Amino acid sequence: MSTILDSDIKFLPGVGPKRAELLSRELNIKCFRDMLYFFPFRYIDRTKIYSISEVESSMSFIQLRGKITRINIVGDKGPARRLVATLSDSTGVIDLIFFKGIKWIKDKIKVNHEYIVFGKPSIFNQTLNIVHPEIDPATEENPLYGGNMIGVYASTEGLKNSGIGNKQFAKFQAALLKLSIDSITETLPDFLVKEKKLLPLRDSMQNIHFPINLKVLALAQMRLKFEELFFLQLSLLKQKSLRERNTEGFLMPRVGNYFNTCFNKIPFELTGAQKRVVKEIRADFVKGRQMNRLLQGDVGSGKTMVALLCALIAADNGYQSCIMAPTEVLANQHFNGVFKIIEGSGIKVALLTGNTKAKERRAILEDLINGNIHILFGTHALIEDRVQFANLGFAVIDEQHRFGVEQRARLWSKSEELPHVLVMTATPIPRTLAMTLYGDLDVSVIDELPPGRKSIQTIHATEAQRSRIYSFVKEQIKAGRQIFMVYPLIKESEKMDYRNLQEGYESIVQEFKQPEYITAVVHGQQKNEDKAHDMNLFVTGKANILVSTSVIEVGVDVPNASVMIIESAERFGLSQLHQLRGRVGRGSESSYCILMTGYKLTKDSRKRVDLLCSTQDGFELAEADLRMRGPGDMEGTQQSGLAVELHIANLARDSQILEDARQYAQKVLEDDPLIEGEKNRLLREGLNALKKEVKDYSQIS
Ligand code: ADP
Ligand code: MG
Repeated sequence: MSTILDSDIKFLPGVGPKRAELLSRELNIKCFRDMLYFFPFRYIDRTKIYSISEVESSMSFIQLRGKITRINIVGDKGPARRLVATLSDSTGVIDLIFFKGIKWIKDKIKVNHEYIVFGKPSIFNQTLNIVHPEIDPATEENPLYGGNMIGVYASTEGLKNSGIGNKQFAKFQAALLKLSIDSITETLPDFLVKEKKLLPLRDSMQNIHFPINLKVLALAQMRLKFEELFFLQLSLLKQKSLRERNTEGFLMPRVGNYFNTCFNKIPFELTGAQKRVVKEIRADFVKGRQMNRLLQGDVGSGKTMVALLCALIAADNGYQSCIMAPTEVLANQHFNGVFKIIEGSGIKVALLTGNTKAKERRAILEDLINGNIHILFGTHALIEDRVQFANLGFAVIDEQHRFGVEQRARLWSKSEELPHVLVMTATPIPRTLAMTLYGDLDVSVIDELPPGRKSIQTIHATEAQRSRIYSFVKEQIKAGRQIFMVYPLIKESEKMDYRNLQEGYESIVQEFKQPEYITAVVHGQQKNEDKAHDMNLFVTGKANILVSTSVIEVGVDVPNASVMIIESAERFGLSQLHQLRGRVGRGSESSYCILMTGYKLTKDSRKRVDLLCSTQDGFELAEADLRMRGPGDMEGTQQSGLAVELHIANLARDSQILEDARQYAQKVLEDDPLIEGEKNRLLREGLNALKKEVKDYSQIS
């Protein structure tokens, strides 16, 4: 059913076809509803109207209401020329002074009319006055008339140039509310509004644009945030429960020989967190429902072992597994890492990447379809259509954020029945964001590092310290350690970045001469053989230094590496820096991360560098990142993206409301899993409306 809120925005008084086009282009405002949901991003408190007798020069911005009693243009031509308008109320008079736009002001204000004036008092010619105040007619239609909180709308340069600034938005909203207030009907069921003590939608809309006071504004914000987060959570949780109802999962109750033999060969004790997560996954394996689980764990927390152990359980139950990594290097590392443990157990593994030779590839594919391979390691190549399993029961996707939604979806088509899916990420995602981005997944967290890890000392340095750093590097190498040196690689400036890396590499080779030092170099423009060769030099300890771009070595595990030098660190994001730093500190030696930056840093880069130097806690950094940049720009989320745009809720600030909304959504679903009940009619409609906006969630894991 369409209402006046669906009207084309061009029909709103004051808009018209030209402005409609602008609004659509700049802010995606296409209909009345879009405008209504374009909320102020902050408010100016203009609730108080001062008497002129109260005014002092020390005050900050104040508001007055009075009559203009006189208008004069004084001073010679040039900068001293000004318009002086005298404002008077029942308590006194004050001069309003305009140096600019004199003609415009002169036309706008009239003697003997009443105005609302907003500005900062100052002293000029020994008398109190206000220079360039905002001035508006004090008519009853003016929202400022009675003294108000004034919403500030985030207009754009393009709109402002066409005269659509804050005041115009207020006018639009006022006109819109007048036209449509009766069409704004409650979107939440009565029981919910009552139970949560929410402000009704109509009052909320009125007050979010034109708050009558601070208290009601807070209630309006609360209501709108809750609603937004509630529908999002309801939709995610409903997807989840639907999937759980409809998709049967393989049963894997047995823990048998494969698992036990291999488990006994693990050269270390699992951490408590690792054990807990294996248990959580085992519980999913016996539920008869398909698992969709996100495993978060800081770099070096030992996620691979968890994945492997679960793959062994799958094998014990006659199912195949695959473990996919974002890069060849990582896939290789996973593959090579398992041999010590699976040796002699009868478990058969294979590695399939873009580099696998045709003949070997054919053999692997055949073994796979015949069920002769238990665990397949590899890269994206795994999800190519040709790869067919006999009975894929468990799929692991490592470093999840590098896989697009589509790729994950394609994995499903591998088998008739969906495998259990474990998505692993070392990019810590703040809880609120995880609940929203991956709200339809179960989440496990490894919040503990293996014992004996020394903390990593993080140091900020500039060019001036370079020679000292090189001496330090030489000491470390002498002590038998290895060194990472990373150069940024940003898509937009790829060419320049490669040049920097090349120059960097040459100067390193100059400084660290062969044969005393061996330096390997790895980057995306090399031939695969060269890359593999140099990588191997470093992994096997033959090279002392590895020069690389940031893209190449995510996840590489070289416990003997003790120093990570990050060049142009100011160009990296917070969590990326944290990820890179995690490549060291894996052995038992003290480790160092050196952030090289230019001398001049922006406020944000300075903050990032300081944060990294002060903490090693990935979740703390992720929270800080979320606060600094907002969820849209968070690393690791660009690809998956927030499925809906949040109009008012803020994932960094509104975590309490989010938790509350999720809990309530859960409660509603427990009672009515398919949202079919009559009392939930509005919720059903709300979900349908949301669906239009949301990309298909069912395709996301
Ligand atoms: P990530 O979670 O970053 O993928 P990895 O799985 O690569 O971490 O593990 C990092 C290193 O820690 C590996 O060398 C691995 O063998 C080792 N490791 C994993 N679990 C433990 C443990 N419980 N105790 C000691 N070392 C462990
Ligand atoms: Mg890993």
